[in-house]
Parts: sequence; structure tokens; C-alpha cells
Amino acid sequence: MKKLLTTACLFVVTIVAPVSFNVSTVLGQQNFSQTKAIRFGKLVDGSGKVLTNAIVVVEGDRIKSVSTSESSIPANVQVVDLSRYTGIPGLIDVHMHLAGTHGGTGSGRVPNQVLSRSPVIDMFLSQGAARKMLDIGITTVRDVGAYQFTDLAMRDLINMGAIVGPRMFVSGPGLRTSSALGVAVPEATADGPVEVTRVVRRLIAAGVDNIKVFGSIGPVPDMGCPTASFTQSAAFTYDELKAAVDTAHSLGKKIAVHSYGPDGARDAVRAGADSIEHGLDMDDATLAEMARRGTFYVPTIYNNVYSAERGSCKEMRIGWHSRTVETVKRALKAGVKFAMGSDGNAPTWMIGENTRELGWFVKVGMTPEQALATATTNAAALLGKEKELGKIAPGYFADLVAVEGDPLKDIDVVINNVRWVMKGGAVVFPALEPYRELKEKRSDTYELDEDEMNDVGYKLLRMKKVNEAIEIFKLTAFPKSYSVYDSLGEAYMVNGDKELAIKNYQKSVELNPQNTNGIEMLKKLQAK
Ligand SMILES: [Zn+2]
Repeated sequence: MKKLLTTACLFVVTIVAPVSFNVSTVLGQQNFSQTKAIRFGKLVDGSGKVLTNAIVVVEGDRIKSVSTSESSIPANVQVVDLSRYTGIPGLIDVHMHLAGTHGGTGSGRVPNQVLSRSPVIDMFLSQGAARKMLDIGITTVRDVGAYQFTDLAMRDLINMGAIVGPRMFVSGPGLRTSSALGVAVPEATADGPVEVTRVVRRLIAAGVDNIKVFGSIGPVPDMGCPTASFTQSAAFTYDELKAAVDTAHSLGKKIAVHSYGPDGARDAVRAGADSIEHGLDMDDATLAEMARRGTFYVPTIYNNVYSAERGSCKEMRIGWHSRTVETVKRALKAGVKFAMGSDGNAPTWMIGENTRELGWFVKVGMTPEQALATATTNAAALLGKEKELGKIAPGYFADLVAVEGDPLKDIDVVINNVRWVMKGGAVVFPALEPYRELKEKRSDTYELDEDEMNDVGYKLLRMKKVNEAIEIFKLTAFPKSYSVYDSLGEAYMVNGDKELAIKNYQKSVELNPQNTNGIEMLKKLQAK
């Protein structure tokens, strides 16, 4: 800490002091950390409106106002100028395994197989994937399957600020029948409507946000690389699916059904599922019924392409891909609603490539605007969060993404040109670039220690990225570290935020009464 502080003090005096004068006089004090105004050259708000020279005012974690009027900017707030970019709502991936499922990798033929490693290891290793989601503009994820409820833990850790990642809505382990091979998941295995009802209730009591059902699971990879139809592989009966749907809905939860082949999907849709996942080979009658009911289709198109390029069963994957594309085209014609799901599986599988699904949506016939809706308004509706997520409007979560280019002309802009991301009012990208850089250099470890984080924060301060430095120090301040509170105090001081500077120095001295630097700084600040 001493070495770092010496460096820091030096540059505060020599470099940042003149800047801090400007910052403090322009920005004032109290509202600084709470309210922000963000300028976008263009704003695609998710409700069909496109604004030019838009101003989005964010208060805490929510959007306060959206307008084109300069007078909407409150006095004394930080103004973030993104007028070079187009603002879009934070993206939502509705089919992910962000807590990982690789612990379950093994021979699918062995019944009651035990996990090959603890799912907690997967979840721990998936922290980088969680960060990566934010980098590509995904601020919300629906997790549709993890072992031993690690997805619930990850959701809670993200909400606590202990892991940096997207907002998660999770399902725990998906419901399955006893005929499902592979890893034993007794807590989510059910046969017959009575057991299905019991298990759905248990999962909801355990704290899941939505229910996932492995409806008709398709061929097991270990059985070779089949190219035949999946008609025979419907796992749950109609009555079982109906029990699952009715129980989930009666307890206010949405339900996603994983389905391969026409029969399983037909039963799931008739039973009232909210979404069909994968769903290749669905017949026209089922698609018409989905359009009528408003059932969402989450085809995970890109997943088979990604798998074909990397996994075994290349021929099979290519076959599935063309059948998925064919089904999706018919679904589009039938007027079925879509939501974007990647089937990305942390820590590494398809991580960072999730939004390529949007490119496939355009390739199969959607307009860029329709494709964007699959990851914003449609996805939010599938989560039952259409009043809080998926749009840039007053009262909604301040989940904003700045892209370079026009996403309504070219969807690749959303896939490749993400320049800035805010989740719940906090800038999450590119705020932590030096953090990532350091992490890459130190790929042998997964977490940096306090001093390294402190160093990263000071690097940002030196780059005059004061707000981002503050974000880093805030991150590092978990759970309790006197030196980081000291740094945070300094960053706020540089920023002209005297009150917060005092608060953080006080916290630091409280944690370590021997912190002479903190005591000195407090004296100076309080004397002013
Ligand atoms: Zn999946």
C-alpha cells in the first residue's frame, strides 16, 4: 500500500490536480454518484421509436427520463457523452448455462452417473464468462440448467456484487424423467403428474425464477451420431407436461421446454409452455398453435454451427442445423414470436459469441429490428419482466448499450461494435480494461489480490478515468479492506466529491486505526 500511495500522491499533485479543479467546479458534489445524463447520437429505445441526439437520465439503477431536450439534464450531474454512438437496450440471452454444466460431461449411457467434478468448480471458473457477457452487451441472462443449484448461488453472488456479471434469472436443474440417462439428478427427476407437481413446487420453494423441462431430449451423443427423426424420444407425456405448466403458472413462474422433434413440442405447446427451446422439426400445426398462443421459440440456431466446428458428430450437427433453419423459416412465416438464446455454456463454450444468434436471425429472414427485439422486448416478455427490462424508458432498469453504427441497418453492429455498457446504472464496460489486461497476464490465477486491484485503480486514475477507477475500488472494497477504502477516498477527492471522500477515509480509518495516511487526509479534507 505504501508504495502505491507514494505513486498515487505524486501523480495526483502533478497530473490530476488541474483536472480535478475543472471536474469539481463543473460537476458539483452531492448528485454526482447517483444521477447521470447520457448523450447518444441516436437512440433505439426498444419500443419502435428512434430518437436523434437523445439524452437518457439515470438515477440510481433506473432510467429517470428519455428525451431530446437539453433541459432534461438536471443541474450538477455527470454527463457522459456518447454522441458518436447509438444507444440500444441492454441485451438478454434467454438460453444460457452461465454457471456451467461441464461437471456433468461423461458417458450419457450410464444411468445414475455421478458428476465428473463439483459443479461449484464450474461456477467458480465461470466468473470470467459472466464478465464477458457484459463486454458484449448482455446485461441479463436466463440460465436454463445447472447442477446442484450453482446457478442460484451465482445469481445471488452477482446481486451481492461479489461476482461481476449480468442479472440472472435461473431454473436450477431442469426437470427430467427417470428414463433420462447420464448424471443422476434426483432433486429434479419426476415420473407422473403427481411427482411432476411435487418437484416443480420444490424447485420454486428452493428459489428458482423459472422452470426448465427436458421435454423430449433427443438422441444421447454416446449412441453415435444419429441423423434420424426424434419422434420416438418424447420423454414427458402430455399429462406430465400439463402438470408442470399448471403448477409453474399457478406459482407465478414461466416454463421453458427443451424439445427435439415434432411430438414433444406439440405436447409442450398444447400444455401451455411459455417457450420451446431448440424445437427443430416442429410441424406446421404446432407452429400455428404457437403463433395463436404467443408461445416463444428459442431455436439456438448458432449452437449447431459452433458445435459442428468444434465437437464430434459434425455431420449430425450440420444436419440439425439445416433442419433448425428450415423450422425457423416456417415459424417466421407462421408469425411465431422469437427470443434470442445462445445455449452458451460457461466457462468457455461459445462464451462471447452469444449474440451471433442475431446474425442468424437476419440470415433466415428477420429484419435487423426484429432480430434486436428477440434480445430485448421479446426476451423481457418471456422473462415476465417487460415492465422493467428490454426498453429504454422511464422506470426501467438502466441497462444501456452503446454501439458504433446503425443497428437497424446492420445487425453486425450489435454483434461486433459494442463500445460501452451500463448495467443497473453502473458502467460495466469498458471500465475494467486494465483489470482484464492484468488478468490475461496472470492467467494462472483467477482472482487478483487487493494490491493488484489497487494498482489497476491507480492506473485508471492516471489515465484520468476517475469514474472507472472508482468502480474498480468499489469492486475491490468487497468485503473489507482499509487500503482500498483509502484509495476510494482519494479517487473521490480527485473527483471533487468531498463528502464521499471523507466517508471512505473514515471507513478506512475505522477498519485500521493505524492508517496514518487516512488520518492525515481526513484532517486536510475537514479543514477545507
Ligand atoms: Zn441448453
